[in-house]
Amino acid sequence: MVVTEAKKPTSAEAEVSKQRRTTGPPPEMSTAVSQGGGFLMAPTPPEVFCRERFSEEQREIDKMVRQFAVERIGPLREELETHNQELTRTLLREVGELGLTGIDVPESYGGMQMDKTTSALAVEALTLSGAGSWMVTFSCQTGIGTLPLVYFGTAAQKEKYLPKLASAEWVAAYALTEAEAGSDALGLKATATLSEDGESWILNGTKIYVTNGGWADLYTIFAKIDGEKLSAFLVERGSEGLTLGEEEKKLGIKGSSTVSLFLDNLRVPKDNLLGKPGDGGAIALNILNIGRFKLGAADLGACKWSTDLVTTYALDRVQFGQPIAFFEAIRKKLARMVVETYALDSAIYRTVGLMDAGIARLDHADPDYDRKVMAALEEYAIEASISKILGSETLFRVSDQGIQVYGGNGFSEEYPMAAVFRNTRIDRIFEGTNEINRMVIYGYYLKKALMEELPLRDLEKRWLEPLPEADGFLGWELAALDRARRLTVKLLFEAISNYGQDLRNAQVVGEDLADLVIAYFAASSAIQRIRQLGEAAASDAGYRSLARLIVAGCLEEVWRIAFRLRPVLLAGGFAQSFVEHFDAEVRALHLPFDPVVEITRLTDDLYHHGRYRFE
Ligand SMILES: Cc1cc2nc3c(=O)[nH]c(=O)nc-3n(C[C@H](O)[C@H](O)[C@H](O)COP(=O)(O)OP(=O)(O)OC[C@H]3O[C@@H](n4cnc5c(N)ncnc54)[C@H](O)[C@@H]3O)c2cc1C
Repeated sequence: MVVTEAKKPTSAEAEVSKQRRTTGPPPEMSTAVSQGGGFLMAPTPPEVFCRERFSEEQREIDKMVRQFAVERIGPLREELETHNQELTRTLLREVGELGLTGIDVPESYGGMQMDKTTSALAVEALTLSGAGSWMVTFSCQTGIGTLPLVYFGTAAQKEKYLPKLASAEWVAAYALTEAEAGSDALGLKATATLSEDGESWILNGTKIYVTNGGWADLYTIFAKIDGEKLSAFLVERGSEGLTLGEEEKKLGIKGSSTVSLFLDNLRVPKDNLLGKPGDGGAIALNILNIGRFKLGAADLGACKWSTDLVTTYALDRVQFGQPIAFFEAIRKKLARMVVETYALDSAIYRTVGLMDAGIARLDHADPDYDRKVMAALEEYAIEASISKILGSETLFRVSDQGIQVYGGNGFSEEYPMAAVFRNTRIDRIFEGTNEINRMVIYGYYLKKALMEELPLRDLEKRWLEPLPEADGFLGWELAALDRARRLTVKLLFEAISNYGQDLRNAQVVGEDLADLVIAYFAASSAIQRIRQLGEAAASDAGYRSLARLIVAGCLEEVWRIAFRLRPVLLAGGFAQSFVEHFDAEVRALHLPFDPVVEITRLTDDLYHHGRYRFE
């Protein structure tokens, strides 16, 4: 069986892993481009990180985890949707033996401390099991459950708890949200006071929607010391004063545990404060930021799993004397699934490649290494939010269209798409709602422009300069994307100049800007990835259609947003001349090919292979 084949890395493999941490994937071109959000500052660089650049070791891990997911977890998928704690924990421990629950934990505490690329690919591969609820339990364990300790724990705290979490002997949870403090999490009301003898913290308050809450052995609970200093505390199951609420009755992820926690003079040993008093805000926000790219990676695996199922179903199901796969209305849906999945894949691995390159520049021996890693990850907050939004919204569309292709069977729990659709709905809500994540995108650009960390002002002046010649393989695609990029930069600049700090409140404009940024990042990552394949892609009709449809999707988004924003810009006091130039630039975005032909080609290719094959 697979489990016996799986192993922790040998010391040689661990050495390779360490070397990768110091060398990392090739950094993107210039300094501005390699900064968080810098991808808008120049045409797509000649090299971006993508799955085709995985190291040998990463490929091996990918293969091993996929096999485990499909052969061991996949057959238990339905049982795992029934809130079966024992089975859920058994599988957690089994993936613990493979090193996956300790993937971000330092080796000295029983983990593997792999790079972020490996972390992402492991999550993606596990999701190929189709076990949505179990994935939420796993992700909480390895993400918000364990990472606060990894990055903010003292040596003693790490020694006491991390080995148990890395092996999944213990389950972990993270309790930040309260009834009155959701998106505005830092406004929470739970309190902590030092006991009279100075030996314990006494916590009071109520936490809601705690993933893994009913099963956890260790909780990271956020409360304000003396009602003021937001702080995080490590709380063991069974602590005096901690009571668990009933399991929530949820729309999806029914196999996972979600409960409220009641803190009634909850006693926490003094040494279980995480970080210093007042560090809670930084802990809460940084940990959420890290989790975001992994959520996108999990959605990516589910997109691939769903696309394969829907393709098989469409080829099998006969109506009007032919498989439904060959009706154009079905082709259109499947082509979109492939196109969006490829773009998501490219965006996720470009993001983790940037993060790994940032971390690789740090000195592992630096006593402040963990904090610097956090800062390196925060640098890519824009890309992390893009991954989260793009992943959750792509999977939502894929599963919705998947249900449509399955027809009545899509609506039946006897078939797999209903569960994917229900399970993914939460992805747009937790780890920061997608509204909050869009605010992160336009908020960070606002900050970086005002602090002059990104040269938006210099760039916008050049927005009407001639574009490079559109010739050769992907020539048109690159030129069209560059036009979209310049438009986005100009619009960002004008919006920032016009609204200033108030952009945070001009949310219709802000969200449209974020959508432009997301569309450009995804499409440019995908096109550059195809370009890197060189002749292999140039001579492959499937790749050519894929590239064209990816850019067509991006331009469609630019048109949609331009159409809606135009009157807003005019009414909002933007210069008439800018709006006229903007109109002319948008009008120049047109397709020099017939998208229906490309949809037919791409789906013929999909049906020929019988599965998503672009990896
Ligand atoms: C199944 C499940 C599991 C969860 N797991 C955990 C967990 O393990 N730990 C934990 O701490 N929390 C957890 N949560 C809580 C989750 O993170 C919150 O539900 C989420 O942050 C949103 O908060 P809220 O529900 O209070 O919604 P609200 O904050 O009330 O938001 C409602 C709506 O208003 C929008 N909105 C709010 N503020 C703004 C703004 N400034 N601008 C624009 N729009 C805004 C939101 O985007 C949303 O659309 C979980 C929730 C669920 C449902």
